[in-house]
Amino acid sequence: MTKLSVGVDIGSVATKAACFNKGNILGTACISTGVNYRETIDKIIQELLSKLNMPANTPISYIACGYGRKMALNSAGTVNEMTANIKGVFHLVKDKFKPELVINIGGQDIKILFLDKEGNVEHFIFNDRCAAGTGRFFETLARILEVDVATLSEMGFESNNEIEITSTCVVFAENEIVNLLSEGHDMHAIVAGFNQAVACRIKDMIGTYRIPEHIIVDGGVALNQSFIKTLKEVFEREVYLFNQPQITTAIGAAIVAHERLQKNVAHYCKDKSEN
Ligand code: ADP
Repeated sequence: MTKLSVGVDIGSVATKAACFNKGNILGTACISTGVNYRETIDKIIQELLSKLNMPANTPISYIACGYGRKMALNSAGTVNEMTANIKGVFHLVKDKFKPELVINIGGQDIKILFLDKEGNVEHFIFNDRCAAGTGRFFETLARILEVDVATLSEMGFESNNEIEITSTCVVFAENEIVNLLSEGHDMHAIVAGFNQAVACRIKDMIGTYRIPEHIIVDGGVALNQSFIKTLKEVFEREVYLFNQPQITTAIGAAIVAHERLQKNVAHYCKDKSEN
């Protein structure tokens, strides 16, 4: 039985999986990354197979990437997250336009990738060890406001009157939000201010580098629609979003799994014809 090609992206917050065959994404899954990475990997594979209506013992060949990739047992290998991200992006954009700038905002990273015409990374900028502007930053805000991150997305639309958040450090921002709440400020205005602070921080990270007409934003934070609206305003550019922005890197890893399987089959056929 032919193995399924699967990509598993073990992130700091969420673990994502995708199955790819002959140019098509057959299915995807996403779960929280638990404390036990190996259990999480088993769980995501089972979740993916169940979504594909396939039995739990279906043979698969998976490529791991992301924060927890080194914990993957029995994988067919690993792939660099940046490579997988770009592969996923190119597959999803198809030939609509040439991706030039990809901003991936995950649980604890911001990766800004400038691509040349061939899709090679020409220049990249990563956030240091600082969580400012990452998914964790939004999660801190959600925790203080006692809502979930999905609700933050809606709240950001409900205020035209954003409050200036001066701290981009998670620890200081936490104090600042608590102070603003104690002064009676509106929660929606705080969320809008937070969106503005993060969008400006990302623009600052880019500095004087040329920003192209189209920006692709992916990673889990791209699900935050009000933040994306603010980012568009701050960058004065069109932002291109995918339906499942959190899964892009897992799709890229699944494409790598598929390519490696095809290559092995080709080797096998060549060996057989030589015998
Ligand atoms: P990682 O790969 O590091 O685990 P992800 O790319 O999966 O990170 O992104 C996780 C982040 O995405 C979370 O920290 C959260 O801020 C954000 N996120 C996840 N789901 C949603 C949602 N429905 N709405 C808004 N933000 C979301």
